[in-house]
Amino acid sequence: MNIFKKLTVPARLVVGFSALFIITTSVTVYSIIKLDQFNRAGVRMLEAGATMLACKDRLGEALLSEITFEKKYVISKERELYERFAEAGKEFARTLDQARGIADVLGSKGILDNIARSHARYAALVEEERRYLNSGRPYPLDRYKAEKGLSVDTIIEEIKALELAIAAGTRTGIEALGRSGARALRTAMAMALFSLAFGVVIAWSVTRSITKPLSIIKKRTGEIARGKFEDPLMISSPPEIEELARAVNIMSAQLGETEKVKSDFFALMTHELRTPLASMKAGITLLQKHPERSGDELHRVLTIMSEECNRLIQQVNTLLDLSKMEAGVVDLDMALCDIKPLLKKAVAEIEPLSASRDIFFEFDYSGNIAPVRMDHERVLQAIRNIVGNAVKYSPDGGKVTISLRHAPAGGLEFAVTDSGPGIPAEDHEAIFDKYRQADTSARAGIMGTGLGLALAKHIIDAQGGRIWVESEPGKGSTFTVFLPG
Ligand code: ADP
Repeated sequence: MNIFKKLTVPARLVVGFSALFIITTSVTVYSIIKLDQFNRAGVRMLEAGATMLACKDRLGEALLSEITFEKKYVISKERELYERFAEAGKEFARTLDQARGIADVLGSKGILDNIARSHARYAALVEEERRYLNSGRPYPLDRYKAEKGLSVDTIIEEIKALELAIAAGTRTGIEALGRSGARALRTAMAMALFSLAFGVVIAWSVTRSITKPLSIIKKRTGEIARGKFEDPLMISSPPEIEELARAVNIMSAQLGETEKVKSDFFALMTHELRTPLASMKAGITLLQKHPERSGDELHRVLTIMSEECNRLIQQVNTLLDLSKMEAGVVDLDMALCDIKPLLKKAVAEIEPLSASRDIFFEFDYSGNIAPVRMDHERVLQAIRNIVGNAVKYSPDGGKVTISLRHAPAGGLEFAVTDSGPGIPAEDHEAIFDKYRQADTSARAGIMGTGLGLALAKHIIDAQGGRIWVESEPGKGSTFTVFLPG
C-alpha cells in the first residue's frame, strides 16, 4: 500500500490499466483454451465413433469369411481353405485390437472382451476339429458343429451389441461434453463478471486516489480565497499532487504573510498619516478659537503645523517614489559626483533633531575618495533614510558614526553605524522589503512605514550598487552602501 502511495499519476494509470488488461486477457485465454478443448474432445469422439463403426463392419466381414472357409474346409479338408480361414481369423484379431485401442473413448471394452473370448473359443474348436480331421480319427461332428454355432452366434450378438454401444457411447459422450461445456460457460461468465467488478473497483480506486486529493486541494483553495490561511494541507497522494499541495501551502503562507503585512501597513499608515493631520487640525482649531493670538505663540503653532505638513508630504513622496521605482518608470540622472557633500548635507538636515536628543555624529574618513557616477539626488534620498533611521533608533545621547572608504573592487563604500537596539539576524534581509519592520522597532514602540529602506535599496540597486546591514540585537547596527566606480 505504501509503495502504491508513492506512485506517480502515470504510474498509477499504467498499473491500473495493466491489472485490467491482465484480468480480461486471462478470462479470454481461459475461454479460448476451454473452447479448443471442447472442439478437440468433440472431434475425437466423432472420429472414435466412425472408426469403431468401421471396425464393427470389418469384424462382421472377417467373421463371415472365417465361417465360410471353415465350413468348406471341414467338407473338403483342403489345406488352402484352412489357411484362408486362418488369415480371416488374423484379420478379425487385428481389427479387434484396433477397436480395443479406442474402446475407452466409447466405453465398449466389455463387449470387445466378450467378442475376443467367444472368438478364441471358436478358433480353438476349429483347431481341435482340424486335428481330428488330420488324424482321420472319428469325432463328434455334430457336437463341434453345435458348439461352433454357439460361439459364432455369441460373436454376432456381441457385434450387434457393439453397434448399439457405439451409438449410446457417442450420445453419452456428447451429453457429457455438453454438460462440461455448460459448466465451463458458467465459469467463464463468472470470471467475466468478477473481472468486470474487479475492473470497476480498480478503475474507481485509481481514479479516486487521484481525484480525492485534488478535491481536498480545491476545498482548501476555497478556504484560502475566504481568507483562511492557517491549517496547511497534509495529504497523502501521488507525488505530483503532493507537490501541488506543497505549492498551495507555500502560496497560502505567502498570502497570509501578505495579508498580515497589508494590515500592518494600514495600521502604520493610519498612524503616520493621522498623527500629523491630527496635530494640524489641533493647530487650526486653536487658531480659530483664539484668533487674537499673535507673536511667538502664533509662530510656534504655525511652525508645528508646517513641520507636520512637511512630514506628511515626505511620507506621500516616499510612497510615490517607491511605486515609481518598482514600476521602473524612474529615469536616473547619472553624473560623476563626490559623495562627501551628500553625507554632510544629510547630517546637517537632521542635526536639529539629533542635537535635541543629544545624539552626536562622528565622521571616520580622511583622504580623497574619487567621485563616482550616480544620481546624486536619489543617493541623497537613500542617505537621508539611512541616517534618519540611525538617529530615530538611537537612544538619547547616542552616537552615529559615518565612515567612507574605497571599495576593494573599485568604487566606494560608506557605512552608517548607530548605537541603537540592533536588528535580529532573521530580519536582515526582510527589512529591505516594503512595509517590513524588525521586531525591535515594534518592541521599542517606534512607529514608521517600513518604506524607507525599501526605497533606499531600489535606488542603490538601480545604480548597480548594493546595500546591506550588519547588526546584532543590543549592539547597534551598521548599514553599508556600495556604489560602483
Ligand atoms: P521605518 O519607517 O519603519 O523605519 P524603514 O524601511 O526605514 O522603515 O526600516 C525598516 C525597519 O528596519 C524598521 O521598521 C526597523 O525595524 C528596522 N531598522 C531600520 N534602521 C534601523 C536601525 N538603524 N536600527 C534598528 N532597526 C532599524
